[in-house]
This record gives sequence, C-alpha cells and structure tokens, in this order.
Amino acid sequence: MAGIMKGASIERLERAKTDLLVELEAEVKDPRVLAAFRQVPRELFVPEDTRQFAYENRPLPIGYGQTISQPLMVALMTQALLLTGGEKVLEVGTGSGYQAALLSLLCARVVSVELIAPLACSAAERLRSLGYANVDVHVAGDTLGWPEGAPYDGIIVTAAAPEVPLRLLDQLALGGRLVVPVGSRNLQELVRIVKTPEGAQRHNLGPCRFVPLLGRDAWPEAPAG
Ligand code: SAH
Repeated sequence: MAGIMKGASIERLERAKTDLLVELEAEVKDPRVLAAFRQVPRELFVPEDTRQFAYENRPLPIGYGQTISQPLMVALMTQALLLTGGEKVLEVGTGSGYQAALLSLLCARVVSVELIAPLACSAAERLRSLGYANVDVHVAGDTLGWPEGAPYDGIIVTAAAPEVPLRLLDQLALGGRLVVPVGSRNLQELVRIVKTPEGAQRHNLGPCRFVPLLGRDAWPEAPAG
C-alpha cells in the first residue's frame, strides 16, 4: 500500500512538472535553460513537507525567513545571463542550491555565496550528493560577492538590492552580465547590466519581487544576517 501511494505521488509530481514546463515554455525561449529545468529535481531542494508543491509556479519557504524563488523568475533570470557553456558564474544567495544546480548545467563553473551559514552547509551537501560537481558554495565574507574568484562572466543576485551593487560590478569581467533585482523592499525591477569598455549598459527586464539582500550593500536598516 505504501508503495502504491508513493508511486501515485511520484506520478502527480511528474504531471505537475510537465505542466510547469508548458507554463515556462510560453515565456522562456532559451532551449538550454528549459532543458536544465527538465533535468533538475526541484522537489529535492524544498523541505520534505512541501515536496508536493515543488512544481507549482511559486516560491516556497526554506527556513531562516528565506525562500526558494518562483520557477518562472528563476528561469527568466537564468536566461538573462545569456550563457553558452564556457562561463564562470557567481550566484549571490545560494539558499536551497536550486539555482546553483541549474547554473551548473549551463556554464563551466559556479561559485555561490550564502550569508546564512546553515543554509550554505545544507545546500553544499545537497549539491554534492546530487553530483553537481562544478559548484563551490561559500559562506559570505565581509565583501558582497566572492572577490577571490573574480572576474566572473555572469553574476546573478537572488535577493533584492536597493541599487546595482558596485562591488559586484567590480567582480564582473569585461563583456560579463550582472542580473539583479533592484528597487524598494516590496517591489523591484529585474535589471541586466552588461559591462563594456564604454561603461555599464543597463537593460530593464520587468517587475519582480524578491526577499531582501542582507548585510552591507543592502538597505541600511536591514538586519546583518
Ligand atoms: N537562489 C536561492 C534562493 C535564495 S533566496 C535558491 O535557488 O534556493 C535569497 C538568499 O540570499 C537567502 O538564502 C539569503 O540568506 C541570501 N542572502 C541575502 N543576503 C545575502 C548576502 N549579502 N550575501 C549572500 N547571500 C545573501
């Protein structure tokens, strides 16, 4: 009986995943991004008691007041990095490790930093056990990002910032893309910055809503984490 129940819930999850992919395909055109979504099991990146919701198109709590982001937003941000496969990418805000797993299939090397040490530890362990070997997770240090690994061809910030963080622009290679939600605590614009010899070019990609970036370079009143 337990086996049959288990089979039924796996089947439900598979159906939900297929439905979610149809939803994503309407908005996301990069076939590599869609293939990565098909491959990465989001149900293994959410707490066990929310697994049944893993393929609903919404964020889910992962503890410590943080969330695994909405799948469509993850897909749009990933697409916005314009990855072709050879890049080194920095993610700010490892959270569950889900975004890092997707990136690991789309570029050569992923460096991911997380401010909350227990989240960094569990994500690193999860990514290791699932075989995402080209991802390094670090507990964030004093400087936003991970300057030790710079320059990066892509930087993705999965928490909202009050403005484009200059400290991250410093860590971006020439020709590199920085994708970051910028705005107020309650509503942001998804922004892509391309670093060119003439300066930073800004592209606005649409409204979004993320949990706030914490620590230095965030809002002055934000808790230090
Ligand atoms: N990308 C994650 C979603 C993360 S939510 C996923 O796929 O699951 C945003 C994360 O950013 C949170 O885990 C939060 O702790 C982290 N964060 C907030 N401020 C940070 C900072 N200054 N440096 C690194 N991580 C930060």
